[in-house]
Amino acid sequence: MSLSSGRDLFMTPGPSVMPDAVLNAMHRAAPNIYEGELIETTDSIIADLKTIAGTTGQAAIYVSNGHGVWEATISNVLQPGDKVLVPATGRFAHGWANVASQMGVSPEIIEFGRETPIDADQIESRLREDKLHEIKAVLVTHTDTSTSVRNDILPIRHAIDAANHPALLMVDCVASFGCERFEMDNWGVDIAITASQKGLMTPPGMAYVFFNDKAAKIAQATPKMSPYWDWELRVSGTFFYQKFFGTAPTHLLFAQRAALDIMLAEGMETVWHRHHTFAKTIWAAVEAWGENGPFRLNIQDPAFRSNAVTTVQAQDTNCVPLRDWCTQQAGLTLGLALGFEGDEYGNGNNVFRIGHMGHLNPPMVLGALATIDAGLKALGIPHGGGALQAATKTIVL
Ligand SMILES: *Cc1c(COP(=O)(O)O)cnc(C)c1O
Repeated sequence: MSLSSGRDLFMTPGPSVMPDAVLNAMHRAAPNIYEGELIETTDSIIADLKTIAGTTGQAAIYVSNGHGVWEATISNVLQPGDKVLVPATGRFAHGWANVASQMGVSPEIIEFGRETPIDADQIESRLREDKLHEIKAVLVTHTDTSTSVRNDILPIRHAIDAANHPALLMVDCVASFGCERFEMDNWGVDIAITASQKGLMTPPGMAYVFFNDKAAKIAQATPKMSPYWDWELRVSGTFFYQKFFGTAPTHLLFAQRAALDIMLAEGMETVWHRHHTFAKTIWAAVEAWGENGPFRLNIQDPAFRSNAVTTVQAQDTNCVPLRDWCTQQAGLTLGLALGFEGDEYGNGNNVFRIGHMGHLNPPMVLGALATIDAGLKALGIPHGGGALQAATKTIVL
């Protein structure tokens, strides 16, 4: 008999768990969109997002999801016929590359598979070959949410510089933002993107593009096909509506403000540390399950594992019943596999993901792991013991 009554827990990689204060911030009448609080709130959101991104550059807000800002970045600095280099470590790199190609830009993919991070040396050698500088940008996914790999950005900057190549460095931080340290200016990133619904603990519907002066200059010289994606007036317009190319997403802005208040009161160092601790909690449990069973972490090297999402493989074991058990019997929703087609992964059935981004604390994370542990026992799936003891040890401060 199901025990799932109570508050549902979604541990999918987004939308993430939202604080009550964020939900409550939207429970109000429509505000004035011409003057007053909303305008100040928006300015403060932009300022705080730039602080978290580690940039003194510009930030544009879009009423869109992450796919939208993929398109925004390409629309502002690239033109049909341009080439981009896309080192791929999972589904999301291919997603951005597909959007580029649908917009007439040619992506050249360097494939690093599903289990290892980007090797910056390969980027350097490819850029060295590009004597005519036909490659206009390198599109990097910081955390690829499908494989849960976290790529190091600084070595990629160094690779571009070592090749003495002018390509822009564009980074997708949708999954990592607010969960991992990101230092846009210090790491030499020209354009970065994120969205509201993951580490930023806000409903889906707003997405952000950060860009520096180099990217701004290139954008000014790039003919624009789309007025909606053009970032120019979003950052420099005289009227408030120009920031959104229309009506502001009023209630999402209030929600985002409330989320940023919580994150900044906690302190970003603490937020990042909390996410890293919970990541280690989850890794410890999965490693213990794997000692006497089919489970293993998709990313072997802890230095390249995400703080926000963990992809788990279970050799020759269908994990769909486990996910279903967790949802139906216990009210815990886990993430399904993305981009793990192929027999070795049971066409994705032998892989699942645990999202651990957003407003989480030990009872939520340990509760989720204990629930999975119970599901393994209920379904008779072989697994090593001691997962909860191993997980608990990582929480002891
Ligand atoms: C979620 C995600 C996206 C896409 O965001 P949507 O809001 O679903 O369009 C892009 N990149 C990464 C790394 C993501 O995790």
